[in-house]
Amino acid sequence: MIISSIKLHLKRILQLHLDFEDRLVSITFDRLFLLSVLMLMVTAAGLLITSRLSFETDTQQQWQRALVWNSGLTFLSFTVLCWWVRPSLKLSALAKKRISRFAHALVLAAGLSVTSIDQMVTPAVTPFLMACTVASVLIIVNPLTALIIYSALLGIYAGAMTLTQTDPIFLISNLFNGLMACCMSVGFSWILWQQKISALQQQDVIFQQQKELEQKNSQLEQLATRDDLTGLANRRMLRILTTEEQTLMIRQNTPTCLLLLDLDLFKNINDELGHPAGDDLLRQLGALLPQTVRASDWVARWGGEEFAILLRNSDATQGMQVAEHVRTMIEKHRFHLPNLLGVQHDIAMTASIGVAQMDAKADDMLDLAYKAADLALYEAKAGGRNRVVLHASAA
Ligand code: GH3
Ligand code: MG
Ligand code: MG
Repeated sequence: MIISSIKLHLKRILQLHLDFEDRLVSITFDRLFLLSVLMLMVTAAGLLITSRLSFETDTQQQWQRALVWNSGLTFLSFTVLCWWVRPSLKLSALAKKRISRFAHALVLAAGLSVTSIDQMVTPAVTPFLMACTVASVLIIVNPLTALIIYSALLGIYAGAMTLTQTDPIFLISNLFNGLMACCMSVGFSWILWQQKISALQQQDVIFQQQKELEQKNSQLEQLATRDDLTGLANRRMLRILTTEEQTLMIRQNTPTCLLLLDLDLFKNINDELGHPAGDDLLRQLGALLPQTVRASDWVARWGGEEFAILLRNSDATQGMQVAEHVRTMIEKHRFHLPNLLGVQHDIAMTASIGVAQMDAKADDMLDLAYKAADLALYEAKAGGRNRVVLHASAA
């Protein structure tokens, strides 16, 4: 029971998620500029205060000199760090990682050196404790690296204390405090690492969900506005486009025509070649029609074997010309369709087209034009099919 629990914990700890390391180094790196500026300010203040004070005993003066030199060196090192981590600089992930390691070492070395120098006059180890806390809370490293860093630090610290602290009781107390500080730092680093990993994982999940949602939205939009057989705009889309078109027509005083196209005797195709072939023909026509008009015109499948074309910037005369062009193109075109046995056939088709000019002033512009174009289409069918008829009002 206990062994399996330890195993589980070890497994969890050793799940380092190193694939996230570059992103975590980047987060640390972004903090380094602020950290180095703060350290510069603290070191400068320490340097200023220590150099101004005057001491009587030799030990105190020695301590003061050592501290001034140490602060000066620390100030210089953090100035270099500050320059390296300035926000305007663009660095590679590896360079960022190396600079972060350097910053980590610098903060710990600063705390350790001040504490070692302080041993001349006081047994306190506060700067070392603070450096350990600041480094482990601000600089994100993986738990294994943290263990290596703080174990090495503990060794160096123990050596430095043995050299600088002569009182055995203070020495033992300092060694114990140092051990505590290093253990706590490993713990903080581990907690910080786990927290950041789970935050990044959540961020990735949210990002993925957002992407899927966007994809689904665009699929829905496609479904709502496109005809699934031909891929052309559907009736709903044409209605939206007509509303936009009406605003333009009024503002720019331009005419627009509606063409209603119906394939002649299409039912025969279904009857003779089967419905799948009929579908195929509609698909081929759906690809052909946009090629017969301008890119600015809109072709939509109105339903069944009926198609609507919105001709922008075209009056009745131009509408009739385009409709005639479309009719001839269809007449000349050969649709490749398989028969019921799967043998390919070239099929000729014709279409009848009703043309109506749209009235921009009418509230129900599309419905009115549709009715008019439908009447013209009826006339075209009655007149023998394969022809273009303009609605009487425009004619
Ligand atoms: P007309 O010249 O008078 O328009 O004759 P028509 O045969 O084209 O017209 P009718 O209205 O009699 O028949 C239209 C046929 O179109 C009937 C219907 O089954 C077929 N149709 C409608 N939508 C589709 C479709 O999506 N796929 C297929 N294959 N056939 C369709
Ligand atoms: Mg029809
Ligand atoms: Mg028809």
